[in-house]
Amino acid sequence: MPSQYLDPSTALAHLETYSRSDGLSINDLMDSTIHGGLTYNDFLLLPGKIDFPASSVLTESRITRNVVLKTPFMSSPMDTVTEGEMAIAMALLGGIGVIHHNQSPERQAAMVRAVKRHENGFITEPVVLAPSQRVEDVLDIKARLGFCGIPVTDSGKLGGKLVGIVTSRDVQFRDPSTPLSSVMTTDLITAQQGITLVEANDILRDSKKGKLPIVDKEGRLVSLLARSDLLKNQSYPLASKNPETKQLYAAAAVGTRPSDMERLALLVEAGLDIVVIDSSQGNSVFQLDMIRHIKLTHPKLEVIAGNVVTREQAASLIAAGADGIRVGMGSGSICITQEVMAVGRPQATAVFAVAEFANKFGVPVIADGGIGNVGHIVKALALGAGAVMMGGLLAGTEEAPGEYFYHEGKRVKAYRGMGSLEAMDMGKSKTSSASKSASSQKYPEPQKSTTHENAATSRYFSESSAVKVAQGVSGDVADKGSVKAFLPYLHVGVQHSFQDIGVKSLAQLREDVHSGKVRFELRTASAQVEGGVHGLNSYTKRLFATV
Ligand code: GDP
Ligand code: GDP
Ligand code: 5GP
Repeated sequence: MPSQYLDPSTALAHLETYSRSDGLSINDLMDSTIHGGLTYNDFLLLPGKIDFPASSVLTESRITRNVVLKTPFMSSPMDTVTEGEMAIAMALLGGIGVIHHNQSPERQAAMVRAVKRHENGFITEPVVLAPSQRVEDVLDIKARLGFCGIPVTDSGKLGGKLVGIVTSRDVQFRDPSTPLSSVMTTDLITAQQGITLVEANDILRDSKKGKLPIVDKEGRLVSLLARSDLLKNQSYPLASKNPETKQLYAAAAVGTRPSDMERLALLVEAGLDIVVIDSSQGNSVFQLDMIRHIKLTHPKLEVIAGNVVTREQAASLIAAGADGIRVGMGSGSICITQEVMAVGRPQATAVFAVAEFANKFGVPVIADGGIGNVGHIVKALALGAGAVMMGGLLAGTEEAPGEYFYHEGKRVKAYRGMGSLEAMDMGKSKTSSASKSASSQKYPEPQKSTTHENAATSRYFSESSAVKVAQGVSGDVADKGSVKAFLPYLHVGVQHSFQDIGVKSLAQLREDVHSGKVRFELRTASAQVEGGVHGLNSYTKRLFATV
């Protein structure tokens, strides 16, 4: 070998002779005095070393001070993105859906209740009927709440003496006026109060029954266990659940007006865990008052405040007591805020600046808006976000509100900004147009709804103006199939990306970005062209296949 070359066996040791590692540290990358504000597309992460399978990568993340999820995915509180169905699916799959507030408080609370009822450990407030009630009462419960395994007590209430149980088969083919006393099963397998969940699950499994009523020494009904919950627990191992109750976490958005306090009270009564204070410019006296009010009246509720894009804005919200900060202004796919208001910040820079600050106080940051693919998610997490919030990426799924229709030969669903004139108009009527159909049947607006003010105008502070200035557009997005296939794709995609970076968990990503081990590179305009598909006559882009 010619002597001008170094000995290959010294290659690793030779790295030490360089003053710094290849690529840029996060601080150099994000020095906006040199590079200006960056978006996700302006940079890449450099690959590290793979010595573990992608399937072992942990994506567990803290999204508020006290809530940890197994996947860092959230869906936006928008009337074309998150209602009950999306919120349930997101939670089952390990993320969380934030139910929008461009609807009556009663309807929003019904959605929160549906999320909390969807999966349980002990059902501590089961629906109970009396022997004199009729088959039609069971059918009505089935239509409204989706289940019909109902314990029957002498008083028709929880705490009454358990006398039987009715299930779907007991009421099938029966005249609706038949009293339950003549159809209910009276030969019951029960368990005693005080039993642990694990023990009760064992009895339920062995009993081969659908339900296990829990009773006290006098035979009075205390709670209920459902076999279907064991199945859900098995089918959705990543589900976002309260560790004690095993109920899914529920999140919902509110505004900052006095009427929002009443809305919030209803949501809390329905079991809300996380409230998102929805405002496009979060650093307002209204929001600071709202945070303080919530912390006083509902101390157990996690409060995500926002939106902000600067340290200074975030500092006010953190000082007021926020448990999480939502970051993004004008970066959403339907936004025209930066264009119209001349205010906002490129999203990557905003996420980095706020996360770097907020994380010091143990307050996680949610990167909201502009997430268009798996790569953007990983970049947001690398910049310090605890979770990403997605609107456009999840609109167009089966679980998003609204019906599919065809636009220029493509199957699509409506997706619109909450600051679009269409959304501002809709909040005034009782049901959001996007949610007509299946969802409005499942969650009908109450006959006598408390009047609610327009959520969209409040988010954009335009309720008192004679002229409404739009900050978003209204359009449609392609059919993406079910969230139940799409979210696992995002999850596995993130795992593969982490593997390329050489980090086994989100915690390690944070640590290695912070220490300078994970490196970044800026992308020039031509690098961005190179990084996309190019030079083909035509192609199809299929993102994933479920095997
Ligand atoms: P997991 O690993 O996510 O199931 O959570 P844990 O390790 O805390 O589970 C403890 C016990 O609770 C196990 O026996 C589970 O089967 C049971 N469990 C978990 N989720 C549910 C649920 O939704 N309903 C019921 N009935 N049991 C559950
Ligand atoms: P059923 O056989 O028609 O009662 O329905 P499943 O047992 O298949 O599903 C019932 C689901 O609803 C489970 O996930 C329960 O945790 C949940 N649930 C929530 N509240 C109640 C309730 O009050 N009664 C019953 N039966 N289920 C409830
Ligand atoms: P996407 O995921 O589609 O890029 O962005 C969704 C996010 O955009 C939402 O979570 C919300 O923060 C923001 N957003 C929703 N509607 C509007 C709007 O009309 N105008 C602006 N400026 N932002 C919006």
